[in-house]
Amino acid sequence: MSPPSLIESPPKHLTQAPTALSYELFPPRNAHAAESLWATIRELEQTNPDYVSVTYGASGSNRDTAVGLLHRLLEETTLRPLAHLTCVGNTAEELSGIITELLDHGVRGILALRGDLPNDPVEAHPPGALTYAQDLVELIRRVEQRRSALLCAGRVAIGVAAYPARHPESPSVEHDVEVLLAKQRSGADFAITQVFFHADQYRDLVVRARRAGVSIPIIPGVMPLTSVRRLRRLSTLTGVAPAPELLAALGRADDDGESRRIGVRATVDLANAALEAGAPGIHLYTFNEHAAALDVLDKLQLLRPERPTRRPGPSGSAAASAPVAAPQLIKA
Ligand code: FAD
Repeated sequence: MSPPSLIESPPKHLTQAPTALSYELFPPRNAHAAESLWATIRELEQTNPDYVSVTYGASGSNRDTAVGLLHRLLEETTLRPLAHLTCVGNTAEELSGIITELLDHGVRGILALRGDLPNDPVEAHPPGALTYAQDLVELIRRVEQRRSALLCAGRVAIGVAAYPARHPESPSVEHDVEVLLAKQRSGADFAITQVFFHADQYRDLVVRARRAGVSIPIIPGVMPLTSVRRLRRLSTLTGVAPAPELLAALGRADDDGESRRIGVRATVDLANAALEAGAPGIHLYTFNEHAAALDVLDKLQLLRPERPTRRPGPSGSAAASAPVAAPQLIKA
């Protein structure tokens, strides 16, 4: 009989890692949206997520609002921001400047993306632009290297996108995994997935990725889909076909309350299936609304570290937190 390997029977303390929790926010379009976003931020902050990600508008269209929101999160909340950044709409030089600015303000996590291509190819690839997310990962690492003496407080965590359902421009799901592996080799630390509607798509992606040598965490991105309108809009934006059964169930709902219950239930089932498949965390796309996200969190009952509430210190930075206590089940 062969001796048990560490892979088959990992030590117990290694199997009980808490589940990572994060939310996606997008920069507000106007003052009214900003007010409602900040109400959402305060609600989400209570759940002690590991980070909140801030999207970057198509072709860098909302650059100043995005950077402003990141700064405010750092200065006025206890949340750790993950800044989305895209190749599209910026030259390498401009991106270098943005990365430097983010690092100087204390951002320590960047989600490196190519961005969606505009229709005009000249706009998509101006002279000096980066072509792929992989190029951006390498650029972030180069900027980081030049500032390593200033980054004693930690290395920059770089996330990238992954696709349970094939990326619309990709020839195959196998190619998607090769791209993910290339992004890992260039220095990515983790991946967050595009939305998906079938848990086996996430499971299959992880199996393909591990076989190909991808070892970074692949965090499923899930979105509470609480209306037919939102489901269709999401499908247009991402190219991911909505699950017909969810569309039908939402279409039959009598009122908004029932729609919300159906959407939340579907999201919880999907997230639980991904967790059962070994997902190391859950990234919730919030659409800047907290109610459905908190409903999902409440029903998921994630094993999370108990953290004392940290309050921003006098200088605006979060005061040092006490040591992290043993994991516990949290409810929203
Ligand atoms: P890449 O990894 O560069 O891939 C783009 C295409 O090129 C793919 O078809 C890929 O197969 C191909 N490719 C990549 N590398 C190579 C290579 N070396 N050789 C040949 N082919 C290659 N968009 C925004 O505009 N703002 C956001 O804030 C934003 N946030 C997102 C967050 C998440 C979690 C996800 C999943 C997506 C997000 N997007 C965002 C959308 C994203 O920008 C699009 O899906 C975009 O079309 C591809 O981005 P990518 O980073 O996956 O690009």
